[in-house]
Amino acid sequence: MKYAELVDIYRRLDATSSGLEKTAILTEAFSAADEHQLPLLVKLVRGRLYAPWTSEELGVSSSLTQRAIAKATGVSEAEIEETWRETGDLGDAAAAGITNRTQRTLVDTELTVRGVHDALRELATYEGAGSEERRIDVVAGLLSDADPEEARYVVRTVLGHLRVGIGDGTVRDAIADAFLDGSEEAVTAVERAYQVTNDYREVAQAARDGGRDGLAELDIELFRPVEVMLARKAETLSGGLEDVAAPEEGVLLEYKFDGVRAQIHKRGADVRVFTRRLEDVTEQFPDAVAAIREHVTAQRCVLEGEIVGYDPDTRALVPFQALSKRIKRKYDIAEMASEIPVVVHLFDCLYLAGRALLDESARERLGALDGVLSPEREELERATHRTLPPADGANREKSDGGSSDGSIGSDGEDGAADDATRAFYEAALDTGHEGLMLKNLDATYQPGRRVGYMMKVKPVMEPLDLVVTRAQWSEGRRSDFLGRLFLGCRNPETGEIVEVGRLATGYTDEELRELTARLEGLVTEREGRRVDVEPEVVLEIEYEEIQRSPEYGSGFALRFPRFERIRVDLGPEDVDSLDRVRRLYEDQ
Ligand code: ATP
Repeated sequence: MKYAELVDIYRRLDATSSGLEKTAILTEAFSAADEHQLPLLVKLVRGRLYAPWTSEELGVSSSLTQRAIAKATGVSEAEIEETWRETGDLGDAAAAGITNRTQRTLVDTELTVRGVHDALRELATYEGAGSEERRIDVVAGLLSDADPEEARYVVRTVLGHLRVGIGDGTVRDAIADAFLDGSEEAVTAVERAYQVTNDYREVAQAARDGGRDGLAELDIELFRPVEVMLARKAETLSGGLEDVAAPEEGVLLEYKFDGVRAQIHKRGADVRVFTRRLEDVTEQFPDAVAAIREHVTAQRCVLEGEIVGYDPDTRALVPFQALSKRIKRKYDIAEMASEIPVVVHLFDCLYLAGRALLDESARERLGALDGVLSPEREELERATHRTLPPADGANREKSDGGSSDGSIGSDGEDGAADDATRAFYEAALDTGHEGLMLKNLDATYQPGRRVGYMMKVKPVMEPLDLVVTRAQWSEGRRSDFLGRLFLGCRNPETGEIVEVGRLATGYTDEELRELTARLEGLVTEREGRRVDVEPEVVLEIEYEEIQRSPEYGSGFALRFPRFERIRVDLGPEDVDSLDRVRRLYEDQ
């Protein structure tokens, strides 16, 4: 397939803002592709070159790309930079550069999809001295053979921002339309297959070759992470207990640990650890890996847990911010591991001995988990828990009142939580944990879903997780930093991010430096001292109050918002919803 044909698809996708039209364009492209083209197309329509859980990266920054464009076209870097600043897109600058180029290669080779794909994937393999120059050469080589439109999309792919507005949902719907009947059930079947494989290439091929049955055969594979099941927030302990399970179902209460969620894949001595965003953090946690090797007796399994850091002298828990240093660390990992040792608190088993357990009840899965842990262990624990039997046991009866001291949440005296349950919650908080997780023991595992099978309770007024939408350079001493940030939440009806306020305080210089560096890589538009950014950076925000306000798209504004921390473990899809902002506003 010629690269120009793919560029034509990109341009058509870019030209419409209608989700239905985008789906139709993809459906047509997927249907027309042969068996070799399909997997490539599925990846490249979203500009993906690697599976999200691999640590491979192209390693080409904006400035290297700029040099590659200059090399391919003979246009000066200053001129390229100027177009970049004007349009906010280096892809546009590349297209302009090719149009105005002062030099040509002698032989133009027509770009093919396979050729571009393979050349770009090669880049991740270059290491050591001279690797930068080699990367520039490869990108420049592709650009020399490109026409302006092709150059635009080669550069956008290199930089990881294709800007054609294709999300997971569009690809899912197009696969369901192209290879199944496009019905709601077909869409669900595609979605389910994606949740267990995390790979639309496989899903598209299975749908094409085997239809609905082919999709049903896709299952968990070791070392290919599964999307994790997410929790809903309960505003009170009693409300959470009522929502998580029907009276005839059992409930498990577990401490909510403040650490890094870990999906652990094990085959013999091979162990890999993935975060909830499916990043591979195995290298960063050699101590956790050693504990798993030693204390998990199963040969082949996928377990889930929370990795929690503690102070080696006092054995007190360390907050997530401290532990997150271990995720970012590339060097001196052993030293870091002795500074902040960890315990893994396990709470689920998704796969055991060749069999996926996703459709088993939590009760069964936890039975499997208990069965694979060796008796003697310190750095690996079952998460602290307590079981509530179904309703005819006294524990699920309404409390007889008088027991609540009102210190937790706003449970009244008629809450569904009994004394022992409240005491368990208080013990969790007293020992420095975040709160409790409430789990329905009769429920299956739903990858990637925020279903109500798992609820989390933390004391109110809870902070919000919001995404940065725009930013402004600060004034005075901090004028080198993007310190004024607009924050958005998610409108669940439209999927759009809507703004809820502006933040200017709460960060240290170091945090501000890190934030600025992250945001600079995401700039889409510049105007004076203001920039628009891709909504990628998620912050945990505290505030004093929520007010109604016509100033922001959400209709609400946070009063006195304060930066609490960067949520490196969350993406834009995880930010709090407008419904939650509204509920908190109503509850205050
Ligand atoms: P939060 O901001 O409250 O940490 P989140 O948005 O990161 O939540 P949720 O799925 O909403 O993620 O909350 C559940 C998270 O709590 C899990 O992702 C996991 O990392 C963590 N956690 C801690 N203890 C447990 C536990 N016992 N069972 C399940 N998850 C737990």
